[in-house]
Amino acid sequence: MIRAIPFLLFLGIGLNSLGAEKFSTGLLAEGTKWETPFYQRDSGIEGPIVFITGGIHGNEPAGARAAEQIRHWPIKKGQLIIVPKVNLPGLRADTRHLPGKPKKLRDLNRNFPKTNGAPNAKDLPASALWKYLKNTKPDWFIDLHEGYDFHQLNSDSVGTSIIDTKGNLANEVVPKMLKAVNATITDPQKKFVRLRYPVDGSIARAAHERIGANSMILETTKKNQPISTRTRQHRLMVHVLLSHLGMVGKNSVHVLVPKKSKELKIAVYDAGGVGGTGPNSLDKVFAETKIHLRRVGAVDIRASTLSQFDLVIFPGGSGSKQAAALGLNGRQIVKKFIEGGGGYVGICAGAYLAASNYEWSLGISNHKTFCKIINLPEIGPKSMWYRGPSAPVKMELTEEGKAILGNLKGPFEVRYHNGPIMSFMGKDGLGSFQRLATFRSEVSKYNPQQGTMVNSPAIIAGEFGEGRFLCISPHPESDSKLYKLLQNAARWVAD
Ligand SMILES: [Zn+2]
Repeated sequence: MIRAIPFLLFLGIGLNSLGAEKFSTGLLAEGTKWETPFYQRDSGIEGPIVFITGGIHGNEPAGARAAEQIRHWPIKKGQLIIVPKVNLPGLRADTRHLPGKPKKLRDLNRNFPKTNGAPNAKDLPASALWKYLKNTKPDWFIDLHEGYDFHQLNSDSVGTSIIDTKGNLANEVVPKMLKAVNATITDPQKKFVRLRYPVDGSIARAAHERIGANSMILETTKKNQPISTRTRQHRLMVHVLLSHLGMVGKNSVHVLVPKKSKELKIAVYDAGGVGGTGPNSLDKVFAETKIHLRRVGAVDIRASTLSQFDLVIFPGGSGSKQAAALGLNGRQIVKKFIEGGGGYVGICAGAYLAASNYEWSLGISNHKTFCKIINLPEIGPKSMWYRGPSAPVKMELTEEGKAILGNLKGPFEVRYHNGPIMSFMGKDGLGSFQRLATFRSEVSKYNPQQGTMVNSPAIIAGEFGEGRFLCISPHPESDSKLYKLLQNAARWVAD
């Protein structure tokens, strides 16, 4: 079941100065549980047809996310066809298999025509994708996946590899792809390697054997690597291929979102210094809203990707470690982004990062944090930022807070985990901030902390240059009842 809904947009974007790129989109398996969008970019200039899929396995999110980014790359020739989220129900459920399918049909990447099997694909959604793929007759077919471990460290997994169908054309480009991506990886055992032929029943193998496409599977590794790193590796490898084919410009590799969009574009920092479930919780906060949310790492920020976004969110973890990961250059780029009109939301560690009292902090908000080291009798010197494990506290919005964050009445519960106790610093050259919420209870571990948290600001907001910041000490992203508060916070800083 395929129906293209072509709509022609003549946008002056990209490097294609002669023709106009033609965009079309539609749904595969329309009207079924497996319905998922496809996107076609046609440069209008003769050239290769490249077909990219992501999310065939639902618990391999980086492939789907990278494909969702790559579909916004302007192309100079040929056609780029992308199905970013093939197994959409699996991606939503974070499961490898097709949810609800019996054992012999549940692995979507075994349902395509086998080497010595029938010429058709088995069941939906494989049959819909296969039919569409055959109709488009791609010269190149790229399937984006993830393994659970680095292949060089654990040969049971194909993580961090390129599995291609070999042949002269692949032999020209695969070494270039390996070289480019491996230049970004320091640990030799975590570098990409080239592996054997794709498995029987996989779409990559079928695309090669039945359609004659130069075919490859790109595998990143989920283990201990942020999603921003894995999507960047996918982008890098695909970019080398598309550059090799003369289809994209040098800077496309950093294009993460559409150039023009009415929808909010949010960057969520997920790399060094981020701890726990912050970025995943933020996915949930914005899941039902119409926005473009992307994970970014320090490398992406230093490559100036923030300029594509309306705001950046720094979630929980360690403010000093986030600052260290960004480096001086990355921190200056974040400051310039806010100064130039970008928005900043800092949650817990992100609210430390925005402060003005550390050598490493951004200094975009005129607040200091209660963090001095006190020598405690019989305990020794202790830093006062540490108040123990995660615990619920009470928080109440001010009138200014209700105007920005929504009309939540009275004190309500929110998760707290060593967020900053914020107070006005009075640093020259910085404006003030307004208090949007107040802690109405507190947690403390050491005597000198008692009474310092209750009635102190839980959320503050202000302006830095042309931009706005909002610092949240506790963790509203952990509670679905407070998702609206964060959605409103994002909208306000982006305004
Ligand atoms: Zn996979």
